[in-house]
Amino acid sequence: MSKEIFYCSNCKKYTLEKICNNCKKETLSPKPAKFSPLDKYGKYRRIYKKQMANQSIKENK
Ligand SMILES: [Zn+2]
Repeated sequence: MSKEIFYCSNCKKYTLEKICNNCKKETLSPKPAKFSPLDKYGKYRRIYKKQMANQSIKENK
């Protein structure tokens, strides 16, 4: 299972969807850093997780 992560340049958000849930625009796949082939999306995944955490905090209010 390979989970790719995408970036919506319109919303400036990371998502796992090829089409942004927010604006319905096509997302881009961010270019992974050459020096970390084992965890090429790790950085983006962390940002994504953070985003999701922030969202759930807001939703719980
Ligand atoms: Zn978007």
